[in-house]
Amino acid sequence: MSNTASSTSVPTSAPAVGGPGLPQVRRLVTEIPGPRSRALAERHRQAVSAAVSTTMPVFAAAAGGGVLVDVDGNSFIDFGCGIAVTTVGNAAPAVVEAVGAQAAAFTHTAYMTTPYEAYVAVAEKLTALTPGDFPKKAMLVNSGAEAVENAVKVARRATGRDAVVVFDHAFHGRTNLTMAMTAKAAPYKTGFGPFAGEIYRAPLSYPYRDGLTGAEAAKRAIERIEAQIGADQVAALVIEPIQGEGGFIVPAPGFLAALLEWCHAHGAVFIADEIQSGVARTGAMFACEHEGVVPDLVTIAKGVAGGLPLSAVVGRADLMDVPQPGGLGGTYGGNPVACAAALAVLDTIESDDLVARARAIETRLLAALTSLKEKDPRVGDVRGRGAMIALELVDPSTGEPDGALAKRIAAQAHANGVILLTCGTWGNVIRLLPPLSISDELLDDGMGVVADAFAACA
Ligand SMILES: *Cc1c(COP(=O)(O)O)cnc(C)c1O
Repeated sequence: MSNTASSTSVPTSAPAVGGPGLPQVRRLVTEIPGPRSRALAERHRQAVSAAVSTTMPVFAAAAGGGVLVDVDGNSFIDFGCGIAVTTVGNAAPAVVEAVGAQAAAFTHTAYMTTPYEAYVAVAEKLTALTPGDFPKKAMLVNSGAEAVENAVKVARRATGRDAVVVFDHAFHGRTNLTMAMTAKAAPYKTGFGPFAGEIYRAPLSYPYRDGLTGAEAAKRAIERIEAQIGADQVAALVIEPIQGEGGFIVPAPGFLAALLEWCHAHGAVFIADEIQSGVARTGAMFACEHEGVVPDLVTIAKGVAGGLPLSAVVGRADLMDVPQPGGLGGTYGGNPVACAAALAVLDTIESDDLVARARAIETRLLAALTSLKEKDPRVGDVRGRGAMIALELVDPSTGEPDGALAKRIAAQAHANGVILLTCGTWGNVIRLLPPLSISDELLDDGMGVVADAFAACA
């Protein structure tokens, strides 16, 4: 089922148009990487900082539906989505059309100087879609890290406090403040200090490794916070409802709710970093909804604008309105082309019922991965929700994380036509992030490649 596919008709050049019209097949027509990708890799080595590393050995030419075609005409199954970004599909027709129309009208004014409707419309949509029936407001910026920074600014200004609580394995970005908030040193922090102050790390709920209930894990975290910071010093607690880079860790039921309750008892702001888990990815519009948790503020980015740079802080109006006018913003924040893309993305999620599609993908992936786990003791844990599913790989005799194995399996999948990403503090987690536009046939074919990669890496 998942031998390297081959074709007799070798395209001489890659398609110039992506989107769902691309042939929805896995098909390798050159060695991987092919000659055009190798030539581009050499230009990369000459011109691009060595600190900017890439996962895939090929360069993209077009993408859509569930595939990405490289510059040599090889068609890969996309289990990465540009890190959970092209959730509605790459070059999705509604996004392409909206971007073209907006770019033809105007590409930029700086909302802070001359405002425009698309920004307001995105704020209206996001305030309606995020959990909570209290008055909400939004502000738009460009990247995930920038959204996290702004959420912290709002929380500090609104509470008059400094301390920010983050968790083990957390990833919140690569700017100075968000590096301090991110847990993993290499490669994100090593040598890049000094880091921002008043960031405190608490233990997470990690059911596979700590065996605690949500209530027990919350008690452990709260005791740490109260002893080492003091409840009345905490401006905000920032948490990913399902961790992204940290290993797709789903906290035990009740953990998030207990932390939220603690925040409200002590005047701290509960910020859900839904940058990876939000926007239909997990089979709900936001992952918090699975736990019935209503955050004070939510940070949104990745899946919201089909790959155009856009991020948001959305939440309680009584918090969002506290900072002084001009205190929040940025030259490019809420760029009109990115806003047009976001409106098309949010419409597509609704019209194509992509939240339900994410749940169907979960069922299909979990069935395949659970049977893999039964056969292969190196799969320690299968977890996640919706189209955000992961495998944690371990040494079966010790239970120790096996990052080297995850790396070999990913490389094997790449060589056989599947884009596959790893994550986790120890690099031992394989994460599946297919676009919600992928077909069942491609999902099954891709899972076959993954299963074969486990066999090949015996
Ligand atoms: C990716 C990510 C970020 C950072 O987003 P950038 O756009 O890369 O700055 C922050 N938080 C979470 C949970 C993420 O997954």
